[in-house]
Amino acid sequence: MMKKVYLLGATGSIGLQTIDIIRSNPLDFCLAGVTGYNNFDSLVEIIDEFKPEVVAIKSQDQALILERRYKDIKVFYGNIGLDLFAAYNQEESIILINALVGMVGLRPTIEAIRVNRDVLLANKETLVVGGHLINDSLKVSKAKLYPIDSEHNGVWQLLKDEDISKVKRVIITASGGAFRDKTRDELTNVSLVEALNHPNWQMGKKITIDSATLMNKGFEIIEAAYLFDIEIDKIEAIIHKESIVHAMVEFNDGSIIAQMAEHDMRIPIAYALNFPLRKQSVSKRLDLKRLNNLHFEDIDIKRYPCLSYAIDAYKTGGSMRTVLNAANEAAVSLFLEGKIKFLDIEQLIRLSMDKHVVIDYPNLEEIYQIDELVKTQIFEHYKELLI
Ligand code: NAD
Ligand code: MG
Repeated sequence: MMKKVYLLGATGSIGLQTIDIIRSNPLDFCLAGVTGYNNFDSLVEIIDEFKPEVVAIKSQDQALILERRYKDIKVFYGNIGLDLFAAYNQEESIILINALVGMVGLRPTIEAIRVNRDVLLANKETLVVGGHLINDSLKVSKAKLYPIDSEHNGVWQLLKDEDISKVKRVIITASGGAFRDKTRDELTNVSLVEALNHPNWQMGKKITIDSATLMNKGFEIIEAAYLFDIEIDKIEAIIHKESIVHAMVEFNDGSIIAQMAEHDMRIPIAYALNFPLRKQSVSKRLDLKRLNNLHFEDIDIKRYPCLSYAIDAYKTGGSMRTVLNAANEAAVSLFLEGKIKFLDIEQLIRLSMDKHVVIDYPNLEEIYQIDELVKTQIFEHYKELLI
């Protein structure tokens, strides 16, 4: 059956790679909904090519332009527009892909689950901040949540026919990011250009910085705990420079099974899109003869404090995860604007976490309030905080 795809964040790195797969499999998928934000022209190109039935965009002005230009397309705008988009049209064949960046992806994910729509999730901030709410909504819905992020996609492939009680630990790999070969001292004055130069993956700017701080890996550990219902202490991250092995599962009997593939996000995206089938893919094949040089190393947590902040935030629980993410989003955007140094990112996160009084089981409204408070605090006072 042809699957109709609604794609949140169509203009981003994951969004465009998803479109690549849809374009080369027109009999299997139809791109029926797309959203954009700051990149109007790129969204218009996608609309012209695929003629979707629904679109969401940042502002009302942009929405009016689109409505005038495309009479048959339903157009939503603003943050609420993302929610309406996610739950639009009750047809059963529609799946939602969430390729937004940031916790702005939380509410649309919950909306899609509410209307029993399967969600393919790339947007990791959603689970970090609202994993408890997502899992609650999945319990009362027919919808399924499938991970696209390469490590979780790998764990999913390894665990889908297994019982979690057989698992001793789940191992996800980290490339180590742009600064994996630098000492802690050398990190003091690294530039934005250097930070954006990821050794293995071409990705959006925010996740590229998150990879350099290893916050990305911290997020992934939290995500894995929610996705696979596994204790956080059984989830381990290790550095693997080649990014060929994405995930491993060690079973109680000592066997370790690994999932390997070229580092090409179209492989996990296609797996999630085609599930339960496995279709021919356009992606590069792994050359096994190259594999005589795979390295695995422990992560030195002192060198990457963001990783330990993420684990701390998960264990503290409740709204601390929102603070972790909000402080990280704000600090990374300041770094991307050239306003703070690389190591200030971790400092702003620590300060925000230390100040926070935890709410155990925050609801959506509380999450959005805390998110705004933490971000405002950082955007308005970062200079004083960093003195
Ligand atoms: P990106 O920056 O390239 O794209 C983000 C998309 O979200 C764009 O379409 C943008 O217009 C939209 N967007 C941004 N802010 C928005 C807002 N406030 N409201 C509405 N739309 C907004 O990011 P990406 O690299 O594609 O990453 C997307 C998500 O997937 C992130 O959560 C990231 O951590 C995760 N992820 C990415 C990769 C990768 O290879 N790029 C791999 C694994 C996971
Ligand atoms: Mg990943």
